[in-house]
Amino acid sequence: MTTLTAIPFGRVDGQPISLYTLANGSGLEVSITNYGAIVQAIRVPDRRGDMADIALGFDTLADYVARNAPYFGAICGRVANRIAGGRFTLDGREYRLAANDGLNALHGGMKGFDKRVWTADPVTDGLRLRLVSVDGEEGYPGELDLRVRYTLSADNALVIDYEATATRATPVNLTNHTYFNLAGHAAGSIEAHVLTLRAAHHTQFDNTLTPTGAIAPVAGTPLDFRTPHAIGERIGAASGYDNNFVLDAGTGPCARVTDPATGRILEMETTEPGVQLYTGNFLDNVAGKAGAVYRRHGGLCLEAQHFPDSVHHPHFPGTILRPGETYTQRTAYRFAAS
Ligand code: BGC
Repeated sequence: MTTLTAIPFGRVDGQPISLYTLANGSGLEVSITNYGAIVQAIRVPDRRGDMADIALGFDTLADYVARNAPYFGAICGRVANRIAGGRFTLDGREYRLAANDGLNALHGGMKGFDKRVWTADPVTDGLRLRLVSVDGEEGYPGELDLRVRYTLSADNALVIDYEATATRATPVNLTNHTYFNLAGHAAGSIEAHVLTLRAAHHTQFDNTLTPTGAIAPVAGTPLDFRTPHAIGERIGAASGYDNNFVLDAGTGPCARVTDPATGRILEMETTEPGVQLYTGNFLDNVAGKAGAVYRRHGGLCLEAQHFPDSVHHPHFPGTILRPGETYTQRTAYRFAAS
């Protein structure tokens, strides 16, 4: 059975923020704050039983507020990833968003869900966070009522359930932006981690990292992780991976990451059609927890989500939530060691 403890973590805009810790009693402990619904720490054993915190992040709330440009651990929304040109048309009306990534909109805008104060309530085996995003917030239409539930399973999975409803039609694309380093958050590069990904295709992108619309095979490219490959093996001269993969149908985990040094294993399952593999390419000497310095490739994100810029590509799975409908997502990260 999962237990929940809470300690004060500071205040934002006069509102008290807490740091909650879930522990499942069989080796998994996860700390979450209701600022940004951020996963602040994930502690799991290695093959010898030694615990380490394998999630990048900060020790203090002030750091999250002032300098979480990498979106460590956060829930990103209303629309995670990029919207080309920071604008879209829905039901004949144009909506303009802040361009916070060159000309594009990224991860929900200037003050996305990662920078909002959520309310938190204990639930069986976990914590439920809730956020109401008002009509017009960051340029998006309609009020969005969002619940995110973090629970721990007895078999060491962190399960994230999302549920949202809206008062007007709006795009919704939600993800969790945890950076994992299975050797420990301070261990340096993840290039020796070995990745398997059940994805035969990816969405091609242009020089601003937004999709061209083409869905291309991974075969014969460094994006082919259908058999296990070390992240660093084919990373080449490029800054690293920052790609949306189109997940193949199938059962069981769609992604598996292993760290040969510690034996830690991460397996991901999701109801989402895509996953953004991001290898921390823009991490540039970020002062993190316990004196750690996070550098390029210091962590990797497996962001379960709909494809980037879906509002401009009608042949991508739809991201429009309409009144009367409910958005749902379930993504689980399961940890083990061998
Ligand atoms: C994106 C990166 C971006 C990063 C910000 C990722 O989800 O794919 O391009 O730089 O978020 O931390």
